[in-house]
Amino acid sequence: MEKKTEKYDVVIIGGGAAGLTAGIYCGRARLNTLLIEKSLVGGLATYTNEIENYPGFPDGSTGLGLMELFQKQAKKFGVKFKGTDVQGVKLEGDVKVVETFRTNYEAKVVIVASGGKPRLTGAKGEAQYLYDKGISFCATCDAAANSGKTVMVIGSGDAAIEEGMFLTKFADKVIVSVMHDEGIMDCNEIAKGQALANPKMEFIWNTMPDEFVGTEEHLNGVVLKNTRTGALQTVPVDSCFLFIGYVPNTEIFRDILDMNRPGYLLTNEKMETNIPGVFACGDVREKFLKQVATAVGDGAIAGYAAEKYLAESEIFEDQIMGSELPGIVFLWNAVMPECRCLLPVVEAFEEKYKGQIKVTRVDIYKSKGLADRLNISEVPAVVFIKDKCIQNVLTGEISLEKIEALIK
Ligand SMILES: Cc1cc2nc3c(=O)[nH]c(=O)nc-3n(C[C@H](O)[C@H](O)[C@H](O)COP(=O)(O)OP(=O)(O)OC[C@H]3O[C@@H](n4cnc5c(N)ncnc54)[C@H](O)[C@@H]3O)c2cc1C
Repeated sequence: MEKKTEKYDVVIIGGGAAGLTAGIYCGRARLNTLLIEKSLVGGLATYTNEIENYPGFPDGSTGLGLMELFQKQAKKFGVKFKGTDVQGVKLEGDVKVVETFRTNYEAKVVIVASGGKPRLTGAKGEAQYLYDKGISFCATCDAAANSGKTVMVIGSGDAAIEEGMFLTKFADKVIVSVMHDEGIMDCNEIAKGQALANPKMEFIWNTMPDEFVGTEEHLNGVVLKNTRTGALQTVPVDSCFLFIGYVPNTEIFRDILDMNRPGYLLTNEKMETNIPGVFACGDVREKFLKQVATAVGDGAIAGYAAEKYLAESEIFEDQIMGSELPGIVFLWNAVMPECRCLLPVVEAFEEKYKGQIKVTRVDIYKSKGLADRLNISEVPAVVFIKDKCIQNVLTGEISLEKIEALIK
């Protein structure tokens, strides 16, 4: 089957909080933007029933409700959505390719916002009971189906304890397997206090799952192993919820984008990856705090940086490299007096060579990306370009005579 090709300014991989925010910024900048999401638009935030710490919602919001608002806003700014799995990427060069089963999407910029997926325990029998067979990662999605039942929660972080408490509204009993000593939990103190006081919650300390057991169709118990004694204990449950952290969705970027050992993408503060024109934002990148608020911040930066990158690409290709006339580029920084005092010299040069040499001024404070493309790290500097190639570079002391010598 011949694959179709579609062209965009920006393709965003992943439709969680980060990708949707990047979409809002790109769409609002009138960039032709496509967002590709393989499952539910809204991402991991839709897994949680209540988000209480996202600013602007003093009464809290459901994760799903909040993400629906994000999507509505992105759509309002013209972002197109495609529900499919990105299977591969080619990111080198000016035209990036994002590959799906039926279509190759070409883009000048790619924003990776593929987030993370829940970590598994690795216990025996786990693969057999994932999702609709009894092992869940989403209390919001599966709580109602557990009304009147006994469920187990694995983990003691914020997500485990807060989602566990939400489950008590439906289930008769919520048993929490905690790997630490009695009373020690990884969640915040408020959640800990509330959970310990909740009569529907029961804690089994110093334990980890050793095996998930049940019938062909459904889980009916978890074998817990005591981390101190090694003793095994089978606990009958109707469902088990895993909240033991996340792993990044970065398999398709391996050996392409720089990442750390666990696979989180490495970016700078502008969300730039190691490849020009490729940005990463949200939970998929290495950072201190993975939350909706920080995913939004990352997405905003990535969207803004993408817009800047495209504007600079246009100046670089059309005005600087694409000019029929030979040209000089004066790179300066408006806050540096030694740069400002050269402006009359550049003006005099421009006047003298009008119609023969094109002069472009680049303030590197605003357009550092252009300086990078011209390989300039110090200003003031003058670059002479002819036949679409850099011919000469002048730094240090700059005078009219020296610029004239540069173009000879
Ligand atoms: C149970 C739970 C409770 C939480 N509670 C809170 C809370 O109260 N407050 C808070 O601020 N944060 C909370 N978080 C964390 C918050 O949800 C995340 O930090 C946030 O959703 C990260 O957004 P993201 O866009 O970076 O990634 P994600 O939300 O993970 O979105 C990434 C998206 O990319 C898609 N994707 C991945 N690979 C591909 C591919 N190859 N092709 C196409 N699409 C792809 C995924 O399907 C996913 O939808 C909670 C998380 C969970 C799981």
